[in-house]
Amino acid sequence: MLYKEPAPIKDRENPFESMMSRFNVAAEVLGLDEEVYNVLKSPTRQVIVNIPVTMDDGKVRVFEGFRVMHSNILGPSKGGIRYAPDVFLDEVKALAAWMTWKCAVVDIPYGGAKGGIICDPYSMSAGEIERLTRAYTNSLIDIFGPDRDIPAPDMGTGPREMAWLMDEYSKTRGSTEHAVVTGKPLVLGGSLGRVEATGRGVMVSAMAAMDKLGMDPSKSTAVVQGFGNVGAWAAKLMAERGVKILGISDVSGAYWNDNGIDIEEAIEYKNEHNGRLEGYKGAEMMDPNELLTAKVDVLVPAAVEDVITIHNVDKIQARLIVEGANGPTSYKADSIINEKGIMVVPDILANSGGVTVSYFEWVQNRMGFKWTLQRVNERAERIMNEAFERVYAASQKYNVPMRIAAYIVAIDKVAMTYKYRGGF
Ligand code: NAD
Repeated sequence: MLYKEPAPIKDRENPFESMMSRFNVAAEVLGLDEEVYNVLKSPTRQVIVNIPVTMDDGKVRVFEGFRVMHSNILGPSKGGIRYAPDVFLDEVKALAAWMTWKCAVVDIPYGGAKGGIICDPYSMSAGEIERLTRAYTNSLIDIFGPDRDIPAPDMGTGPREMAWLMDEYSKTRGSTEHAVVTGKPLVLGGSLGRVEATGRGVMVSAMAAMDKLGMDPSKSTAVVQGFGNVGAWAAKLMAERGVKILGISDVSGAYWNDNGIDIEEAIEYKNEHNGRLEGYKGAEMMDPNELLTAKVDVLVPAAVEDVITIHNVDKIQARLIVEGANGPTSYKADSIINEKGIMVVPDILANSGGVTVSYFEWVQNRMGFKWTLQRVNERAERIMNEAFERVYAASQKYNVPMRIAAYIVAIDKVAMTYKYRGGF
């Protein structure tokens, strides 16, 4: 069957084009060699698989899945697997490229990849998801590997799916291969600190940026969009450093408290209510659109893509945006943000704490030695702070916004590696 790319959603930027627009700006500022540009602008490998799975009713359904390896020049490719009804190839391509840039920005020895399966995991039984995950693993058995391509969780997948993937891969290899996947349950070789790693990295980036802007955390206010893994941890850790979190939101709505939300209490409420804030009484409900444009010092989008767009960017009042989510700002909104003088710590830097601790998980698996939580956090914090300084220095040197500076740092590293390795 011929693969047909879905038509772009009206008014929503194509994620791959949006990524390429920033890549192009950075490549030009950097004066990137045309040959290297041509290598980097397309993924190294794109695989589309059709996966037959016996459903609980005895019928066989065929699912379409993808794995895109954007680059493996820095090392084995690394990236999550997304289970969603609307996941499509261009989205996976963009996410794979983002992983290359993210790993390069934090200077870990990985290339970028991403996977996806078109399915609705929330309407499938655990048995169906297990069979799907094992079949997907089998169909990509020659792609995956601790030294080749290392998956991780993404939207719709978690430690459970990673355990099945690791088990299936290990069975076909005849040996236990912990390092083939990260984001595993702790008992299967997962790393301490992985769950909170992305939110912690968001907090570290926010503190570093506030320091550059001369903002005192204990006199600053923030809102956090999305109260899942990244948003809730970022809010909790920022609050611990004195930032007053005035607003939070999730799919159930947005919540505001002039005196600051008690984040510990909100997390407890969410954990007791199926992961949602619905009915939370520690704050007033507000229009979710107004949360993003509220009068606060720091805005942390930590939910979904394309929430800061040309439709609302004019009204944003925050001085600092720290992107917990992947791609929360549309390319077209970038120039207005820059005109307004807002500092953005871009996704490929701000949320790279997750892949950094995934890397630590892989290192621990290969050493066969578990690190303490303190060691994980200290090393992740150092890596995040060093990456922030590299990006900040590039923004000063080239006189560009932090987003373009992050791309410059990443592309420069990948391009230099190409030069040294040569061979094309
Ligand atoms: P999650 O599923 O744990 O949480 C998502 C949260 O966003 C939930 O609270 C959900 O209710 C909320 N949400 C969804 N749509 C919303 C909307 N329109 N408005 C407000 N809230 C909404 O997911 P997560 O792991 O926290 O990931 C969030 C973002 O961070 C994604 O873009 C993801 O790709 C990115 N990210 C996650 C990690 C990680 O380690 N988890 C790493 C890097 C990047």
